[in-house]
Amino acid sequence: MTDAPDPGLTDLIAAHQAADRWTDFEYPSIFSGEPCVATTTKMVNCSCGESMPAETHAAHVALVVAQHTNGRMAELRDVKAERNELKAIVVRVRAVTEDLVQNIADDEKTLRSPNVSVGEAQELPAVINVQKIYLKDLRAALEGEQQ
Ligand SMILES: [Zn+2]
Repeated sequence: MTDAPDPGLTDLIAAHQAADRWTDFEYPSIFSGEPCVATTTKMVNCSCGESMPAETHAAHVALVVAQHTNGRMAELRDVKAERNELKAIVVRVRAVTEDLVQNIADDEKTLRSPNVSVGEAQELPAVINVQKIYLKDLRAALEGEQQ
């Protein structure tokens, strides 16, 4: 985890500043029989373009921040899951690399053995060569991972 500030959050809050304020008057319908007295609501224009009763602006900003924070947490969970997948791949590649080292050693030992068959004597040099190419590629990939 990092203590770096979330610039997206700073921008987000900056985009939801309470700007113009006005009073909204609402009159009852002339058919309602109610006395013609306006109900008033203190309103505010948020800099995001929405208008709302002034007392709900703080809740509006809190909701926007909560949604942003939830989104960032989901992103971080995705990054963490991806990193864990990559670590698992590196572990598998290391295991394959160790197997290759062992196979090459075994094949070279077989090749040097006085009991090596004619078929093995013919095939093993090529097999060893291919394994060494794979090993070189895997080691290069692992070195790249460690940078
Ligand atoms: Zn807003």
